[in-house]
Amino acid sequence: MADGSNKPLPGVLRWTLGDLTVTALNDGWFQGSLDLVTGIPQEEAGALQRAGFRSEAPVVTLNAFVVTGAGRKPVLIDSGYGHFGPATMGRVPAALALAGIAPESIETVLLTHLHPDHAGGLVTQDGSAAYPNAELVVHADEAAHWLPDEALSRAPEAARPYFENARKAVAPYGARIRRHEGGELVPGITAVPLPGHTPGHCGMRIVSGDKALLMWTDVVHMPAIQFKRPEAGVAFDVDGDQARATRTRILDEVATEGTLIGGSHLEFPALGHVARDGAGYSFVPVLWVGGEG
Ligand SMILES: [Zn+2]
Repeated sequence: MADGSNKPLPGVLRWTLGDLTVTALNDGWFQGSLDLVTGIPQEEAGALQRAGFRSEAPVVTLNAFVVTGAGRKPVLIDSGYGHFGPATMGRVPAALALAGIAPESIETVLLTHLHPDHAGGLVTQDGSAAYPNAELVVHADEAAHWLPDEALSRAPEAARPYFENARKAVAPYGARIRRHEGGELVPGITAVPLPGHTPGHCGMRIVSGDKALLMWTDVVHMPAIQFKRPEAGVAFDVDGDQARATRTRILDEVATEGTLIGGSHLEFPALGHVARDGAGYSFVPVLWVGGEG
């Protein structure tokens, strides 16, 4: 490169889904460790990382998505880590800019859950709303778990930052928070409750004509490990047993139905299909062939 820069370019990929365009927005990555893995021995998790041609200590990647088309205002699904995460994250605004979407044009942000890597990007560094005209949409159980004063005072010391960050992320939106209990949130996008990782953790099923995509958010954090061993969870699952049951059920379902899936922590562009593979599964990413039109 002329300037010698190896800084990553924004990760943006448009995907056509019927009349809609689903754009994957890469937010960056953070360096995890095998200490994050629950439910299976660390040695086995490390071996799966190596077998997947990845570093033994998992790198966790992150994506948000934006849905446009069919005459609608852009609908953002999650916001990335914003200023709450390490310097390798917080790239959603640059990705959105490259996609030609102004933050002011976003009137709806669907939040899959309120962990800081999904909600942190709602606020700018000075604490104002990054999407000043947006209404936030979140499952009622999720809001009830993280946001009330009583929830913060009951939180165990180690978990307090998660509660504080969730409150900070939504604060500038005031009363512009719509709580739901599943069902259609905006035309063509339906919340699919996938509880366990957090109490109100929801995937988003995006449908246009005969095309559909299930954005399953945090069903899988470490693809090289959890497709092969769905029993494996992550330390930040709020209810590990419930998250495991949800992952086991949804993997079986999408493999049986051949559903196109997207994931917050699947490596970019984070879209693909799930195939059965022995006692577990394999992820078959979609391949970019240059887009349509
Ligand atoms: Zn996450």
